Amino acid sequence: MSTPAMSAEGLTKTFRTPGGGSLTACEDVSVELTQGRTVAIVGESGSGKSTLLRMLTGLERPTSGRVLLGEQEIQDVRGSLLREVRRHVQMVFQDPLGSFAPRMRIAEAVCAPLINYDAIGRREVVPRAREMLRLVGLSEHLVTRRPHQLSGGQLQRCAIARALTLDPQVLLCDEATSALDVSAQAEIMALLARLQDERGIAIGFVCHDLALVAHFATTILVMHRGRVVEQLPAEGLVERARHPYTRRLLASVLDLRDRDGHLGREPGGGSRPRPQDEAADGPLVEIAPGHLVARPASGAGDGR
Ligand code: ADP
Ligand code: MG
Repeated sequence: MSTPAMSAEGLTKTFRTPGGGSLTACEDVSVELTQGRTVAIVGESGSGKSTLLRMLTGLERPTSGRVLLGEQEIQDVRGSLLREVRRHVQMVFQDPLGSFAPRMRIAEAVCAPLINYDAIGRREVVPRAREMLRLVGLSEHLVTRRPHQLSGGQLQRCAIARALTLDPQVLLCDEATSALDVSAQAEIMALLARLQDERGIAIGFVCHDLALVAHFATTILVMHRGRVVEQLPAEGLVERARHPYTRRLLASVLDLRDRDGHLGREPGGGSRPRPQDEAADGPLVEIAPGHLVARPASGAGDGR
């Protein structure tokens, strides 16, 4: 098999908390992002998904574990080398309006990475922005607009266009569709699928909505309290999912669908990191090709 575009091996992140305590947001997480494939990282709020993505992009330094871009170890790179690495790994965030400088025109906003990397001349900005807008299915006339004049869906397309200007190998999306309505969500997913087909990008897609990603992803990684409890192919997810937590997530989205006819919302309550005195699940065991599941800690049934 070919080398993944990016991988994480045994990533752990422990934060210090006020009062001298500590909190492990991610524990021993491994994931491979392969060209042309999508890994969806699901789990309720607080399960460590954003921390994982932040470690992949170098925004957060892992406490232990490795991050590889191709074959290069990057978890400790800083400065100009980190800048070079970042070209290849781009992110799209949840809040469309918050991720654009309010006064900047869309042309400059979309081309910001090129401008930052000195990879574009002043006069090329507008033509290049027009081209990128067309790529993401937007009217090129939007180049002169300001962010607040666009809808959330249009802005997320601009965020995707901006992320692609440097032609990255890896695109990491952190709840990139969560602030959008259901139809805009579906359009963004279709856009990402097309761009992935055309460009062979590896996508890591963090989302709490299992129903949304099941159709779009190649692999599903389920996180609970900072740990991966199950990893499995998206195909046949409903029939194959084993871990009680995955089954609970599935049940909650299926229920919501039945009741109001649309896709699931974030399960209430949220996930807290596991208290130190509470038993953890066992290590991940491969029960079928590409299907890893953690043996649930004793007494940790569906009610957890
Ligand atoms: P998710 O994206 O799945 O909602 P996060 O990765 O944002 O989860 O957070 C996981 C846990 O780590 C949460 O309990 C959160 O409060 C904690 N956490 C995240 N970032 C920090 C930080 N910089 N300092 C302290 N705790 C943090
Ligand atoms: Mg998050």
